[in-house]
Amino acid sequence: AKDSGRARYVYFEKNMNEKSFEKMQMQNKLRNAIEKDELVLYYQPKVDLKNNKIIEYEALIRWVSPDYGFVSPDRFIGIAEESGLISKLGAWVFEKACEFSKKINKNSENDIIVSVNVSVVELMNVNYISAIKKILEKIEVNPNLIGIEITETALMESFETNEAILNELIELGIQVSLDDFGTGYSSLNYLKKIPTNILKIDKSFVDDIKNDEIDETIIKAIIEIAHKLNLEVVAEGVETEEQKNKLKEYKCDQIQGYLVSKPLPEEDIIKGDFSI
Ligand code: C2E
Ligand code: CA
Ligand code: CA
Ligand code: CA
Repeated sequence: AKDSGRARYVYFEKNMNEKSFEKMQMQNKLRNAIEKDELVLYYQPKVDLKNNKIIEYEALIRWVSPDYGFVSPDRFIGIAEESGLISKLGAWVFEKACEFSKKINKNSENDIIVSVNVSVVELMNVNYISAIKKILEKIEVNPNLIGIEITETALMESFETNEAILNELIELGIQVSLDDFGTGYSSLNYLKKIPTNILKIDKSFVDDIKNDEIDETIIKAIIEIAHKLNLEVVAEGVETEEQKNKLKEYKCDQIQGYLVSKPLPEEDIIKGDFSI
């Protein structure tokens, strides 16, 4: 009995080692991915429901690795956070997005914001704000044409620090959105204090608009409260006309989702290859 216990233990340990080895391998490949040009940003439009105009693009990172193929950001952002790579990656994303914002606004009659997703690990780095300022100056882009999105849950973990950093960003003129709203546990009391301009209602609420009366009530309430707090509301993951019409009826300000467009590579947007 002793022997078999030991054997199991050895087997378990080997399994753990294999796992961390795989992770380390992926970390190393990700480290080189920027230099090797394996990362690319796609952009997904956000549309103003009042006039059907595109007023913003969200940058979403893509990694096409020769070893792994397409890797979802949901998978590699976590690895970047654990390995300390996230700040380098985030700076790369921010610079690319600034360049794109400049380009897209040159040919647009209305102002278009380009926003990036920021990990809280990145946000809390002591050099974050100075890195952001440096890039804004280097690219010479108007900060009013840049936005960041940060998830509600991550924000709450260290509220006071994050609050100060978000305030600095807003002072710079950068738009701040609270991502995946409704999935975390922020109380309404916190909502009053979070330095933010926009709430993004999570896709899970939008999905059930049709067949779930409770979600309808929740969405309506979120929109009403947000407006009372002078925040705008975006609904994400909108896939059907029916969802769009309902959201319009609820006075939601903006929508984003496959109904309007999937995230697209920069060339397709510059060429104007899609219509809304
Ligand atoms: P997110 O910020 O909540 O982005 C929304 C996700 O839903 C994206 O997945 C987008 O492609 C997808 N999506 C948009 N509209 C629809 C729709 O109508 N239907 C469906 N089914 N999906 C839709 P993606 O691009 O795989 O990104 C996943 C997550 O990875 C993002 O969630 C974000 O948290 C993170 N992420 C992406 N790019 C970056 C980045 O540059 N930096 C950081 N830190 N995180 C990023
Ligand atoms: Ca987002
Ligand atoms: Ca989201
Ligand atoms: Ca999400």
